[in-house]
Amino acid sequence: MNFCSECGAPTLWQVPADDNRPRHICSACHTIHYENPKIICGCLVTFEDQVLLCRRAIEPRHGLWTLPAGFMENGETAAEGALRETWEEALARPTLAGLYALTSIPHISQVYMIFRATLATPDHAPGPESLETQLFKADDIPWDELAFQTVRKTLKHWVDDQSRGHYSLHEMDIAESERARA
Ligand SMILES: [Zn+2]
Repeated sequence: MNFCSECGAPTLWQVPADDNRPRHICSACHTIHYENPKIICGCLVTFEDQVLLCRRAIEPRHGLWTLPAGFMENGETAAEGALRETWEEALARPTLAGLYALTSIPHISQVYMIFRATLATPDHAPGPESLETQLFKADDIPWDELAFQTVRKTLKHWVDDQSRGHYSLHEMDIAESERARA
């Protein structure tokens, strides 16, 4: 942020009084513009023994497969955001079955909240941000064509949990060093 969103004056990159890290501070009105991590919410949607993936029609990672997920909006709950994104990207209306994966990605200041959700019927179709949507059995997941490391890790947990017949919340961190393998 180079200019203050309150008054338009240039901002400075300084540590405010009683703080311990630099912030964008307005040189004129002295507003401190805090920036905090963004939350991405979405669903791991299943129908019977299959998981629903979307092939991205947008950058980044155009053409690769992902879970339906996106930035949480102001004024909605995480669960509402997860269902909204699932509708927007996969035109699917699953029933939520609890939070499934909580992933911190500190080097890009993002937190993923992925809910498990089930479909009563195999109804889905690509929304504007997807090239196609498809249900995959565990053995058919396109591991070499996944868009994000968090998707890969979440799907690995799902494959393990499905084989055990027991699903539980997974807390994960993704380090910058893992990015190259995404
Ligand atoms: Zn200002």
